[in-house]
Amino acid sequence: MGSLESKKGITMTISDRYAVFGQPIKHSKSPRIHRIFAEQTGQSLSYDAQEVPAKQFSAATDVFFAEGGKGLNCTVPLKELAWAYAGKKTARAELSKAVNTLTVQPDGSILSDNTDGCGLVSDLMINHGISLAGARILILGAGGASRGIIAPILEQSPQSLVIANRTIDKAVNLASEFHDKGRVSGCGFAALNKQQFDLILNATSASLSDSVPPLPEHLLAENGICYDLAYGNQPTPFVRWGIEHHAAKSLDGLGMLVEQAAEAFFIWRGVRPDTQAVIEVLNAERKASSPFETITTNKKYV
Ligand code: NDP
Repeated sequence: MGSLESKKGITMTISDRYAVFGQPIKHSKSPRIHRIFAEQTGQSLSYDAQEVPAKQFSAATDVFFAEGGKGLNCTVPLKELAWAYAGKKTARAELSKAVNTLTVQPDGSILSDNTDGCGLVSDLMINHGISLAGARILILGAGGASRGIIAPILEQSPQSLVIANRTIDKAVNLASEFHDKGRVSGCGFAALNKQQFDLILNATSASLSDSVPPLPEHLLAENGICYDLAYGNQPTPFVRWGIEHHAAKSLDGLGMLVEQAAEAFFIWRGVRPDTQAVIEVLNAERKASSPFETITTNKKYV
């Protein structure tokens, strides 16, 4: 925390500044999450959301850090630009080629990191008790989010990891970048016929257009689990797909959102917030805002 002497001689306290840049950004939950983290851990900081189009990313980021900003989250469509912006990259940022967290270093340089992958793995394993070791895992989509989650998943030693994408080449090329990290392959959706998976992760943005990729009927193994990285006040189309296909659990990405934020908060502040408490608050808020929820199932929607 810094301080500033005003003209009247009153000392004002200045909190460390953080922000999230993206477009669109209006509905981002990140400011709310980080403010709750700060309150929980007694940290004095500010965290705002700023609408930044891709064309203005570099200039807006220069200004943010020149004005003393300590750390920045970047979301759609800025993650690849943020990766290119930073002079220094963590190993997981280097692998993912798309980052969500920029941090000013003591020497003034900017370090980039990707906390999406560990956020997802924490949500799956810690919050939901899902074991990835030995599992047959399918990732739908080969965009920025998919890139960020492949290495952290492979680190958990699944039996196999398949990446399926609408544009087949992207899935094949992405998989080939991670061949030295585990059993991973890429294909199109049609090639999924006759395969079964214990865990299906939807990392496409299809939910945003209210659709689900074209998937074969028997894709999900018995007791299999579905997880949509997207989230909303209502179950996403893929969460509904999981329920309709008798998933043992059909989850959305709200927990991942909170966990990736917690990892960024830890990088910036050196303390780990209580993510469970925040997930409970956000879940209660969205349940309250969606009183006409129509899904009736004994399966789990979180
Ligand atoms: P990108 O734009 O980088 O990639 C989008 C992917 O979705 C591509 O593989 C694209 O295929 C595919 N796709 C888009 N529309 C369709 C469709 N109608 N049918 C089939 N495939 C489609 O997006 P991101 O990777 O950054 O984000 C993906 C999702 O993950 C978003 O919903 C985002 O909100 C979510 N996310 C959630 C996070 C969280 O914390 N919960 C963190 C990060 C992301 P193609 O290559 O053929 O165009």
